[in-house]
Formats: sequence, structure tokens, C-alpha cells
Amino acid sequence: MAIDDIVIVGGGTAGWMTAAALSRLSASGRANVTLIESEAIGTVGVGEATIPHFVAFNKLLGIDEAVLLAEVQGTFKLGIHFENWGAQGASYFHPFGGYGYEFDGLSFHHIWHMMRRGGDRRPLHVFNAETMAAQAHKFARTGPDHPEDLPPINYAYHLDAGRYARFLRKHAEARGVSRAEGRVTDVSLDGESGFVTAVTLDDGRQVRGDLFVDCSGFRGLLIEQALETGYEDWTHWLPCDRAVALPCARKGPPMPYTRSTAWSAGWQWTVPLQHRNGNGHVYSSAFMSSDEALDILLRNIDSEPAADPNHLRFVTGRRKKFWNRNVVAVGLAAGFMEPLESTSIHLISTAVSKLLSLLSLDAITPVQEDTFNRLTEKEYVRIRDFLILHYKVTDRCDSPFWDYCRTMSIPDTLEEKLALFRHNGHVFREEDELFTETSWVAVMLGQGLVPEKCSPLAETYAGPNLIHEVNEIERSIRYLVQNMPGHQQFVERYCPAP
Ligand code: FAD
Repeated sequence: MAIDDIVIVGGGTAGWMTAAALSRLSASGRANVTLIESEAIGTVGVGEATIPHFVAFNKLLGIDEAVLLAEVQGTFKLGIHFENWGAQGASYFHPFGGYGYEFDGLSFHHIWHMMRRGGDRRPLHVFNAETMAAQAHKFARTGPDHPEDLPPINYAYHLDAGRYARFLRKHAEARGVSRAEGRVTDVSLDGESGFVTAVTLDDGRQVRGDLFVDCSGFRGLLIEQALETGYEDWTHWLPCDRAVALPCARKGPPMPYTRSTAWSAGWQWTVPLQHRNGNGHVYSSAFMSSDEALDILLRNIDSEPAADPNHLRFVTGRRKKFWNRNVVAVGLAAGFMEPLESTSIHLISTAVSKLLSLLSLDAITPVQEDTFNRLTEKEYVRIRDFLILHYKVTDRCDSPFWDYCRTMSIPDTLEEKLALFRHNGHVFREEDELFTETSWVAVMLGQGLVPEKCSPLAETYAGPNLIHEVNEIERSIRYLVQNMPGHQQFVERYCPAP
């Protein structure tokens, strides 16, 4: 079976990211790529915070960073500042870069933990450049290609997702992707194989295809409504199932980080863009009404709303299969986990990368389907566990929601990770798991989980030389940050919005 026609259903972030990545095929004439979208239905379009892999995704598409950021009114993100999570009034920073450096393979946090037990009161974050820069509201792109050869700063972007989709549309259409405007009203299946053969639009047009990418959002038009793939519901571990989004005017310079503030039955995001702040409140409808959620949000934004509140519903979980027959689900059609660690757009980029690696233009085989599903399931499960960690490791007992989260049973995979860390601070990153040791350490320590013992290896480094070395790490980070420009200054010079 030749794959001549690839049809993408949906033109949100997922649809246009897929189209941009597949446009190499249309540009070279190897396959026709068509994207169908309906302006009448619209997109979710609240995805605004990303993680560093997203920087790499755009680089692979050959997109100039400064041009992109100017178009999407973007700013830089060094990590996430969490407030009220481990306890009310407590806060910590989850940075993108690592702490200090490794001592013969031993991660720096073990050294820090040992020194702390010996009376050194310095917080771990003074050994992390991203946290120190974020606190000082500074930013610079450093690394080997930088004239001063400074150590690299790890970063991602905040962006306006609607503008990003429009930007990618131009990129994809210029490379031969066709766009069809219309609402899909019917899906035709082959009687024998059960493959999707065509979709029908509301004006009667039929769009035929060999491979379909379902980017139709929560409704999962092909993967669920047509193929009845099934959904695994994770609400019992991640009970938030609603959000209210409310963009606002921005006061003061944009922060180079996302803010996540926990409230009594969920949390609020603040994402600074060049022209506004993205705000929203993610909450659990079992513990809070939509009026209450909006009221909390309105009381905790510092400027005038720039639009009406947008209320959204979701079910946390994943499709039982992400690739089913000749349909590959990408984006919200594949599953959803709340935006606590900005993983949705990342999951779009990894789905697209896997699709490109597995795709052949002469057949669709069970092995492609199985590989895609196995790898994607692992990714989802690991991200899920990392998100549950934020709710489980807490001292909060001020509301029924936090009582539920603190005492709920958790997956065995997460239970093991917590037990290992509690014992002597070890974190094992499994295979190519998205979240690094730094991420797990930042959140576990940040939320109050302190290892009972030190790593015995750390103790072998104790002595005056170690103190000198550790002081030097702190000094060089302070020097680096001191010499960085302010974040706003950097944005104004590098990627000002037109
Ligand atoms: P959608 O945006 O819903 O697009 C669906 C597309 O399908 C639309 O073009 C629509 O017109 C089309 N369509 C649907 N039905 C039909 C039909 N019958 N006929 C034709 N076309 C149809 N992600 C992050 O990475 N970072 C964040 O900070 C972040 N914040 C979020 C906050 C909230 C509250 C939510 C809900 C999500 C957030 N996300 C975030 C996720 C992010 O918004 C989505 O992953 C991303 O926008 C992808 O959406 P999508 O393209 O899959 O779906």
C-alpha cells in the first residue's frame, strides 16, 4: 500500500507542528500533505509555556529563533517558580539546567546534601545558573557559540500558541502543504481493514488519504469517534479536570520563568509574553465550583483582564493506542495531562519525531504501530508520575483536595522513585525519560522530601579542597549572572515584536 496522501485533521498547535515537520515530503514531491481545519470550531490555543526540547524542534525545522520569537511575542523561560506546593507560603524553583557539576559521576546534590548535614546553610539553588538568573530577572544565550564562551544556559520559550500555529502555517504552506477549510462531518472506513479511507466536509467535499494524523483536539474525531480506540482515565491520580484561562495586560518587565501557585483545589499559572500575561486556574471540579475558581483567579491577577474568561474541561489520561490502523493521534487527540510542567507541546514534538522516524511511504505495518504505541505510552506514564509527585509530596492539609492528594495511593513506579530518594538521595533516570535527575531533585527537595542519609560516596570527598571547589562553583555562577543583561533588555534587543 503506497502512502501518497497524508491528511492531517485539525489546525491547532498539533496540526500545524505536524504539517511543518511533514512539509519536507510535500516540498520534495514524495507525498501530498493536506491539513483540514475549521475556523468555526477554533482551537484550544492556551499552550504558552514550553520546555527546552521545543527550542530544538524549531531548530530542526530550520526556523530562525529571533524571527520566531518576534512573531509569537515570545519571551524566555529558565524554569518554573512553584509557590504553596509543599506547604502554604513555601516556594522553590524547578530549573532547566543542572546543579553544580558531577564529581566523578556523582551528582552534585549528594555533595550539597552532605555539606548541609555538616552545617553549610547555602540553599541548593545557588549552585544553579538558571535559578540565579531567574531570581535576578536576567537572561542571555550562552554556550560554545557565544563570543565569551560562557557555560550554557538552558532555556525554553513562552509564546502565544495561536500566533505560533499561524507562523507554522506560513512555513508549511510555503513548502507545499495544502489547507482545506471546512468541518469534517463524516469519516469513511474500509470494510475489510477498518482503515480510514476518506473524510467528508460539511460542503460535501471528500478528502481521501492513505495515512491520517488526528489533530482534532479533545474530541479525537478519527482515533476515538471513528475508530473507538478507548481512553485510560488517570483522574484518580491527577484530579484536576477543569481550567479557566484569562489573559491580562502585563505590569512591569516579563519574568524569565513561569509561575505556578497552588490554591485550595488546584493551581494558577502565570506566563509572561511580550504583549500580555497568560493566566489561568487549573482545578478539580470534585472540590471546587467554576465560579469559585474564577473568583480565586480574579483575586490573584495583578492587572486588567484582556479577554473574557475561557472555561475548559478535560479528562486526564491517554488513548489506549496512539497509532491505530492508519490513524496517528497527535496533541490533545492523543491524551492530556495538565500543563503543570508544560509537557503537552513537547509531546506533540516527540510524536511528530517518532512518526517521521517510523514512516515509510510504501506500507503501514503492525511493527510501526506497536513501536510508536510502546514508546509513547512510556513517555506518558513517566510524565504522569512526575506530575503526581507535585500533588503527593506535600504537607498541605488545609483543604479536602490536599487531604485527598496527600493520602491517595500512587503508581508503584512513583512509589519506588520516592523510596529511593528518601533513603539516600538517589534518582535513577530511566532510559531516555524526559525529566532529568535535576528535575526530580528540584521538586522532591522543593516540596520537602529530604533524604534520610547521605550517599557514602559523597562522604569520600569531604575536606578543605571540596569547600574550595564548591565555593568556586557558586562564585562562577554569580559572576555569570552578574554579567548577563536583564531579560527584558535581551528580548528588546534580540527579538522585539514588530
Ligand atoms: P486544538 O487546539 O483543540 O485544535 C484542534 C483543531 O481541530 C482545530 O483546528 C479545530 O478547528 C480542528 N477540528 C476539530 N474538529 C474538527 C472538525 N469536525 N472538522 C475540522 N476541523 C476540526 N501545552 C503546553 O505545552 N504548555 C502550556 O502551557 C499549556 N497550557 C495549557 C493550558 C490548558 C488549560 C490546556 C487545556 C492546555 C494547555 N496546553 C499547554 C496544551 C496545548 O494547548 C495543546 O496541547 C495544544 O494547543 C495542542 O492542541 P491541539 O492542536 O491538539 O488541539
